[in-house]
Amino acid sequence: MKSIIKYPPVGDIEICTRKNILRTTFSVSAQKVRITTSPFFVNTLFPLSEERINWILKTQQKLKEKYATLTLLPTSEIKTCFFTIRFVPDTRLEQKYVFSLRRESDELRVYYCTNIDFEQPKTQQSIRRILQQVLKVEAKSFLPNRLKENAENYKFTFESVRINNATSRWGSCSSKKRINLSCYLMLLPLELIDFVLVHELCHTEQMNHGADFKRKMKSIFPNNDLLNKRLREEAKRALVLKI
Ligand SMILES: [Zn+2]
Repeated sequence: MKSIIKYPPVGDIEICTRKNILRTTFSVSAQKVRITTSPFFVNTLFPLSEERINWILKTQQKLKEKYATLTLLPTSEIKTCFFTIRFVPDTRLEQKYVFSLRRESDELRVYYCTNIDFEQPKTQQSIRRILQQVLKVEAKSFLPNRLKENAENYKFTFESVRINNATSRWGSCSSKKRINLSCYLMLLPLELIDFVLVHELCHTEQMNHGADFKRKMKSIFPNNDLLNKRLREEAKRALVLKI
């Protein structure tokens, strides 16, 4: 169950309760503070300790500084695996926050109303939401097949694949060989998409990142370390759409 409470020192706090949780966890994102806990502990959460409040405020401040430079501009160009996203003003569009999209071969044009203040948080959020939908459609039509091809190629098996909107990880694999992939993978060049897909496929055999896992990855990607480094750089670039 989810509920939101106002807690002035830090703003809104989302409280998620789940019966089978044994430990209370706190997470801070650019948008909110979330506490995940058992329904039995809810009454004992508040008041938060001074130490906890200071930690939340410090983390929020750090995130603000990190994201201050991450603003989408009318001149921004976002490269995805198969096309580049560009923003085009359109005087025919009258409603703010209503965008129109046009795909032309290797370009996706996002037409926006000329009255809009592009850098306003609300505009930024609307654009990110639309682009997330675009990436999700793209991911759903591309990633499951690509995963299957990689599995066949390197002799892996998996149970199922799902596409989600995860922003903190590219993918995950459960012990039941169920693979989850983030739609933001579509922001990567093809070589790195395959690198992540094979990484998750390797988890169908090795759940951890131990020596056997690394050996397997290196046998498929001799330039494993370089690709890992590139992936970390791409993650920074992708951040502008994920916040
Ligand atoms: Zn992993």
